[in-house]
Amino acid sequence: MQGLSVLGATGSIGFNTLDIVRRHPDKYRVISLSANQRVAQMHQLCLEFKPQTVVMVDSQAAEQLKLKLMESGDHQIQVLQGQQALIALVREPQVDIVMAAIVGASGLLPTLEAVKADKKVLLANKEALVTSGQIFIDALHDSNATLLPIDSEHNAIFQCLPKPMQKGIGSAHIKDNGISKVLLTGSGGPFRTLPLEQFNAITPAQACAHPNWDMGRKISVDSATMMNKGLEFIEAKWLFNLSPDDIQVVLHPQSTIHSMVQYKDGSVIAQMGNPDMRTPIAHAMAYPQRIDAGVEPFDFFRCQNFEFGEADFERYPNLKLAIEACRAGQGACTALNAANEVAVEAFLQEQIKFTDIACINADVMQQFKDTDIDCIDGVLQLDSQARHAAVVLVETIKERI
Ligand code: NAD
Ligand code: MG
Repeated sequence: MQGLSVLGATGSIGFNTLDIVRRHPDKYRVISLSANQRVAQMHQLCLEFKPQTVVMVDSQAAEQLKLKLMESGDHQIQVLQGQQALIALVREPQVDIVMAAIVGASGLLPTLEAVKADKKVLLANKEALVTSGQIFIDALHDSNATLLPIDSEHNAIFQCLPKPMQKGIGSAHIKDNGISKVLLTGSGGPFRTLPLEQFNAITPAQACAHPNWDMGRKISVDSATMMNKGLEFIEAKWLFNLSPDDIQVVLHPQSTIHSMVQYKDGSVIAQMGNPDMRTPIAHAMAYPQRIDAGVEPFDFFRCQNFEFGEADFERYPNLKLAIEACRAGQGACTALNAANEVAVEAFLQEQIKFTDIACINADVMQQFKDTDIDCIDGVLQLDSQARHAAVVLVETIKERI
């Protein structure tokens, strides 16, 4: 029986993780759950999974949850609030596995803490690695933690790698393992064929309606701009110790292949399946074993198209920015991620247009790209400065609209 802590339990990844737990009560026990604000959803999860501790980062939400738990007669569950409680949560000795599924840079400190506490860390929160890169990988190497990728592409790449590379996350060399390239696939999102002159009028509802995947709102917008693929490009660099030239983005609208590894001898190994996050989650939770994830088996006779193409940077300027950031260094990556979080939120609040996201990101990245970062405080400081610069740009655009 493994003890599990789910950070971001009320989100899309949290929900899918708890579905795997539901299917395997003999293997996993929920020790703790965390969320930001969604009280009603967390209350339901408490009733079902009976965790020992819950952290609501928002203090009002924590008070409301306490009341609800009293009303429903659950006096055993400890409810805490704030970032510090989140960090303490992952250190608990009963916790073996930490699912890091908070959205955005807010996930960085608790995820890093889980690594330092030698846990088996399942990384969905790609922003943690994007914002802190080498610092995160160094912490991993200084610990006895195991890091397993949850992002479907990185989980697919992991599955296509030979054992020495799987064991050497962040440090093994592809060249020592006969690998020539990592092929990162992406669907191209909902606007792959939309005429470019219509991009100005894209609404949040349209951007959040991904053709293949059901995800949280921030990552859905990132998928529509392909910033998500850009963040994944940076994530792949750190997870698999790659240089930007080792990674190729391949458009694959059907999302059947979740990514591939190309070997020196011409072999290409792909991981495929239906687009359902329970597959990578179950893979990482049970690794190196395999367990049922409740996912429909893939039916090749119903698969009519299998298309591939190149990503067009005019359509996806955010992808271009992220690849440039990956080449430029940590300052550019941290600043770009922060700007993007602010810009996406402003777009979701209908304060700016879809096309403004890339303009804000480019401007902020340019301002901070030469900043040197060598510690977590440096990451947090740049994150906050870049957010401030992005907010200023959002305000300017709002005045114009
Ligand atoms: P979501 O918006 O559905 O859920 C986010 C979760 O984080 C919620 O539980 C929320 O309460 C919590 N949260 C938000 N802000 C917080 C804060 N400041 N402090 C603490 N907790 C906070 O997001 P999601 O789609 O589940 O994505 C989570 C992470 O997984 C993201 O980093 C995303 O890029 C990554 N990811 C998601 C998918 C997917 O299919 N949804 C796929 C690959 C990777
Ligand atoms: Mg992904």
